[in-house]
Amino acid sequence: MRHWPLWTLRRSALAYWLLVDALALAVVVYSIVTSPQPTSGEIGRFAVIAGTAGAVIIGSSIYSHRVGEAARNPWAAHLCYLTAGLVALPCNLLVLLLFGPALHGVLTQRPESHRWVFTLSATTLAVFATRYAIGWAEPRTDLVVMVLGATVLLLLRAGLIALGLKLRSPRASGEEVIGEPIDVVLGIVAVSIGGLMGFAAITTPVHALMAGPPLALLERAAQLPQWRRSAQRDAKTGLANAVHWDSRARYELSKARERDRPMAVMLLDLDHFKRVNDEVGHLAGDSALSAVALLLTGTVRRGDLVGRFGGEEFVVLLPDAEPAVARSVAQRVRHAIADLAVPTVGTDGREHLLTGLTVSIGVATTQRFGYELPDLLVAADSALLAAKGYGRNLVEMA
Ligand code: GH3
Ligand code: MG
Ligand code: MG
Repeated sequence: MRHWPLWTLRRSALAYWLLVDALALAVVVYSIVTSPQPTSGEIGRFAVIAGTAGAVIIGSSIYSHRVGEAARNPWAAHLCYLTAGLVALPCNLLVLLLFGPALHGVLTQRPESHRWVFTLSATTLAVFATRYAIGWAEPRTDLVVMVLGATVLLLLRAGLIALGLKLRSPRASGEEVIGEPIDVVLGIVAVSIGGLMGFAAITTPVHALMAGPPLALLERAAQLPQWRRSAQRDAKTGLANAVHWDSRARYELSKARERDRPMAVMLLDLDHFKRVNDEVGHLAGDSALSAVALLLTGTVRRGDLVGRFGGEEFVVLLPDAEPAVARSVAQRVRHAIADLAVPTVGTDGREHLLTGLTVSIGVATTQRFGYELPDLLVAADSALLAAKGYGRNLVEMA
């Protein structure tokens, strides 16, 4: 317990995360203690909702395991049947539904289990606060109340989680704490299907089975953001891959041309990198590439676009950078890489501190070469070749 990664959270984040967890636990206990015994009709509704959701989620998990999908985001599906329970079940059976995401967290053994518990607690609080708003003992099901309830549920859940993530990493971007627009759409779809499922469960429980196919579709659609991210990123370094960098760079260049703003392209190639592989091993080479990627993103501005161009070649687009600024950024990067010390493991299995990495950099600017990406890249590449020719560990302006 002393080694739980939970304790590595900053103090304010730790206090908040534990508070959310404790409040959720209190609400769960209160709901169980105060709810009356469920009727057989309510148990029937529970069976249909839990059975449909369970079949879809287990089926989808088996499928994604077979096709070798990496980490998945199952929250849209969980939110869907929790919404159904919120509308159609007494509070104690609603608590039972929470075993779905809880079990999911245990079975999939997330690397950050405290984060899973926190998300589950925030979801629990949002669900029960919504239940309180729409009627604790007997939820109302007229359209206006259901729409307002869905809004409260989504906003409260997003707000509770966003605050937790912001406290954990104050520098995190809006997208990292709130999610992408597609996540918002998925949330709306999840509570809509869930509302319909709950409504069907109240009138004729067996009709709730019809929510199965849309729930399955939602479960698949919830993986879209992850698929897109993995298609856009380079797996080794987490940077934009060459294809994605290219299309983003073209877009940024066309915007800059319209606004008549300067831009620069910086092409980097690590010096004598083959030696690192030959002398310390390919795994050490990979660690060095990851370290350089991390350093690059940390050294340039947030709006600068860093990509992995090829093997040990990186590329950075610098918006609003005059030639003098671009040169000084390139020099800063060059110095930072020369100071880098990367802890690695050599081919002999011993720890090895890799130092002495250097980089050659070619820089091309829109002021000289215009706003066409191929022209800028060709110019930056020949400047890079020149830097190599002059002895490496140099910045050359095209
Ligand atoms: P120069 O200073 O002329 O750039 O010398 P160099 O050895 O860096 O150049 P060259 O382009 O000849 O070799 C690049 C090397 O980078 C080849 C390969 O061993 C290594 N490399 C490319 N991609 C990876 C990778 O993903 N991982 C590792 N470990 N090494 C890589
Ligand atoms: Mg190279
Ligand atoms: Mg090289």
